[in-house]
Amino acid sequence: MARHRDAVCRLCRREGMKLFLKGARCYTEKCAIEKRNFVPGQHGQSRRPKMAGYGIQLREKQKMKRTYGLLEKQFRNYFEKAERGKGPTGSNLLVLLERRLDNVVYRAGIASSRAQARQLVLHGHVRINGKKVNIPSYLVTVGEEIVLKDDMHQNAMVLEARSLSQSQGAANWLEIDRENLRARVLAMPKRENVQTPPMNEQLIVELYSK
Ligand code: SF4
Repeated sequence: MARHRDAVCRLCRREGMKLFLKGARCYTEKCAIEKRNFVPGQHGQSRRPKMAGYGIQLREKQKMKRTYGLLEKQFRNYFEKAERGKGPTGSNLLVLLERRLDNVVYRAGIASSRAQARQLVLHGHVRINGKKVNIPSYLVTVGEEIVLKDDMHQNAMVLEARSLSQSQGAANWLEIDRENLRARVLAMPKRENVQTPPMNEQLIVELYSK
């Protein structure tokens, strides 16, 4: 599966904000945004360029795409699906991204980043209603129960994620059992339930509507 292979902290520095792509490190002073919050590259330390119109819209799209760990083509496909749905396209887009299995594993505190969550899913460690699902883009639906396989419960990465998640708020559309590393989908997420770094989905709609 194609994916972004550069140092992920560069992505946050490019956007000038924490996108929380690296798990526990994002909450420490080792975070690159804490240490050097300027655009990567040779001229990065000079002033951030002023942006208008297209530039602002493009940055909003990049922020959302990078937060969920998607490539351009995948993101565009989600947008087209969101356009076909009922209601505002921007909200539909965010809701679709939230329903991805790798995102749910992350939200449930089973992994400390979406990249880790994707790895757990791809390696077949996640069950939905008792059946192995190894597709990170699988869209969860109401009533489904997402569980981490028993033999992964003492994995160091999983234990770290679980302790990190204790201090974070839970998504209220999920019933999360941190002790047993499982989550149940109570309802479809709504836009107001989706917590992400600040981003304006309407600007993404404007960008793709040109
Ligand atoms: Fe790196 Fe995480 Fe900080 Fe982003 S938030 S710069 S991914 S450590």
